[in-house]
Amino acid sequence: MNKRNDFLAYGRQSIDEVDMKAVYDTLRSDFLTQGPKVEEFENAIANYVGANYAVAFSNGTAALHGACFAAGISKGDEVITTPITFAATSNAVLYCGGTPVFADIDPVTYNIDPRKIDQVISSKTKAIIPVDFTGQPVDLDEILSIAKRHNLIVIEDGAHSLGAEYKGRRVGSQAHMTMFSFHPVKPITTGEGGIITTNSKEFHEKLKLFRSHGISKTPYSIEQGDWYYEMTDLGFNYRMNDIQAALGLSQLDKLDGFLERRRELATLYGELLCDVDGIRLPWQLEGTVSGWHLYMIQLNEKIVRKSRRDIFDEMRAMNIGVHVHYIPVYWHPVYQERGYQRGLCNFAERWYEHALTLPLFPQMTDEDVGYVVETLKQAID
Ligand SMILES: *Cc1c(COP(=O)(O)O)cnc(C)c1O
Repeated sequence: MNKRNDFLAYGRQSIDEVDMKAVYDTLRSDFLTQGPKVEEFENAIANYVGANYAVAFSNGTAALHGACFAAGISKGDEVITTPITFAATSNAVLYCGGTPVFADIDPVTYNIDPRKIDQVISSKTKAIIPVDFTGQPVDLDEILSIAKRHNLIVIEDGAHSLGAEYKGRRVGSQAHMTMFSFHPVKPITTGEGGIITTNSKEFHEKLKLFRSHGISKTPYSIEQGDWYYEMTDLGFNYRMNDIQAALGLSQLDKLDGFLERRRELATLYGELLCDVDGIRLPWQLEGTVSGWHLYMIQLNEKIVRKSRRDIFDEMRAMNIGVHVHYIPVYWHPVYQERGYQRGLCNFAERWYEHALTLPLFPQMTDEDVGYVVETLKQAID
């Protein structure tokens, strides 16, 4: 194999002339901060996922923070989540003074295991934040039924799963709140950006308040004069702007095409890798359609006889942006300092040691996939 000249990232945005025109037009409009485009984008996302409301944020992490605030998470509350996620998921709980509690992952789907959720529920548990890891929806019916039994709020982290389907419906309308991220590697991008979708009027109101300093204008202004507003909660400036929203609207038009291409590429990986010894391919839960944000394999080092590190380095040396998603969150010093111990989630930790992310994004060619597969085979041999 000849080494390719350019670096093949594990994921990246697809931006075209139409996107650029949308941004350019907004730059010429009256609104550079939150304006009519943000509302249009919120309506478009709510409509796409089939939810009543959507509230856009400056990024997905801010959106998760907002969701934890709206859920009333505060000091003393426990929130159950998965260790195999980007740290922002559980950090949002810490921002509110709550305590993240990690439940192990399912050995087949790599998503949080509903049976393990049951085992860590306590009288302090207030919410569950399941993550649709790699774009594969979690078994939400199971999780919602646990939540109902214990009166818990479910905030679905759908950073990977915009457009993915669970039992025939798109992710985003079934959990109490769902977060999507628009970071450039995610299904669609606004540069930075995030959103919460919900069917609850109460959460909708709280999210809007939190996003903009906790400031509320009505109904006080009627009695006091039009300048008057009150800050009723300590909120943040977490607003998305119209430049981002214009890009998001233009991107949303192309989402289904992006997803179709991601599925084609995932199928091609599956066909080319299915008879390679020593690797395990991703498995799909019945009744779900993944958004294929990530294509992750497991390496069996006993069969492969080479470490994950060596295979990773050899592929990087061939200009392939292999990656590993994710280091178990509670291994990070910030969590270790808070008393979380290694060994907490046995399966997740073992899974992590063998995980490898292969490149996958809509503009990849079939030849790119072929190059990744051949390089991987060579590294394994
Ligand atoms: C990207 C991501 C986030 C955070 O989103 P940002 O928009 O980058 O702040 C949260 N959770 C998961 C699982 C993610 O992948």
